[in-house]
Amino acid sequence: MQHFSDAKAVVRALSPDEPIILNRPHAAARAARFFVETFPGKSLYAVKANPSPDLIEILWANGVTHYDVASIAEVRLVRGLLPEAVLCFMHPVKSPGAIREAYFEHGVKTFSLDSSEELAKIVDATRGADGEPAADLRLCVRLRVSSEYSELSLASKFGCDLTEAPLLLQESRQYADWLGVCFHVGSQAMSPFAYVQALDRTRAAIAEASVVIDMIDVGGGFPSVYPGMEPPPLEDYFKIIHQHFYALPIAYNAELWCEPGRALCAEYSSLVVKVEKRRGEELYINDGAYGALFDAAHVDWKFPVRALEDDLIKPEMDFAFYGPTCDDADYMPGPFALPSDIQAGDFIEIGMLGAYGAAMKTDFNGFGAAQRIVVADEPMASLYDGSRKRPAADNVVSLR
Ligand SMILES: *Cc1c(COP(=O)(O)O)cnc(C)c1O
Repeated sequence: MQHFSDAKAVVRALSPDEPIILNRPHAAARAARFFVETFPGKSLYAVKANPSPDLIEILWANGVTHYDVASIAEVRLVRGLLPEAVLCFMHPVKSPGAIREAYFEHGVKTFSLDSSEELAKIVDATRGADGEPAADLRLCVRLRVSSEYSELSLASKFGCDLTEAPLLLQESRQYADWLGVCFHVGSQAMSPFAYVQALDRTRAAIAEASVVIDMIDVGGGFPSVYPGMEPPPLEDYFKIIHQHFYALPIAYNAELWCEPGRALCAEYSSLVVKVEKRRGEELYINDGAYGALFDAAHVDWKFPVRALEDDLIKPEMDFAFYGPTCDDADYMPGPFALPSDIQAGDFIEIGMLGAYGAAMKTDFNGFGAAQRIVVADEPMASLYDGSRKRPAADNVVSLR
């Protein structure tokens, strides 16, 4: 991969006709070290946020030993890169073939589930040649929790309800060498209270089930920084999670896990795009809804932008973007503030695309190409560079 100092240097040298993904290994390494050193338990990287092999190797080199994989392709990918890593298959609906291959060929012992059917599927797919159930299964019962504090809900698709959880925990205990409870509060949880609520529900499920619990996995949802989304410090989340974890009726040596996706990789990548046309307050750029800007188009996510030309001198105004495909839905309302004299031929850097951005690119309509380049400058925002001030107190939940 080529190395440059920053996006301006890339544009000066290459004047690229196609979008370019800029990667910042130092930012991903810093995020990994922060979680490894500060989270009061084990941090699993949720691979779906960005499955780039370079990123996975950076996380491993900086102490991330466990990986949350959700498909057999992710299992194969991470196992191929990291023979020693612990892989946890945390998708609660898997195919028997995927479970079998993960268990027998890739050493996966940890599986999540949210129904008796899935439990039976896991037990059957991992039976030994003698027909006996596997003795080393590590099972995690996924609880449905509220997404009300998060920008992207994960509340309706997966997770068993509190009414079903006690029985499922009891059933799972019979087959589990090690039993956990997991949940996901939704992505970009803007308040630590999201986890308090979910842990309260976890407590109710465990108390009712009265089985030994070896692990609590608080899932992902840890936020990054975007325009208009300034979360409280992650330390506040970790502190409140730790306090509530300690108060649970679980085994004395129970482990605490989390599964950050976004928070580990959002700062890793940005994108350089070219303006192909300007129509008033709309800029037609060469990446969009079917590229790295899926969330900007489909869930109206705000990403930071900056113009890369030095000769743009007019005050900023708000723009919307059109992507390159022939589809009207390839539209990103923004608003994106850029100098008002920006025009066709100019370049823009769009930041904070390491999570659910760079990973989302498709080849639809022939616009999938993107070179990857390593840059050395800082991401457009960071939770980990020591620059952030504590946000307004009303954004912070008081710690008991
Ligand atoms: C998507 C996902 C994650 C990662 O979520 P983030 O909000 O990116 O931290 C973690 N665990 C599971 C089960 C997921 O589906």
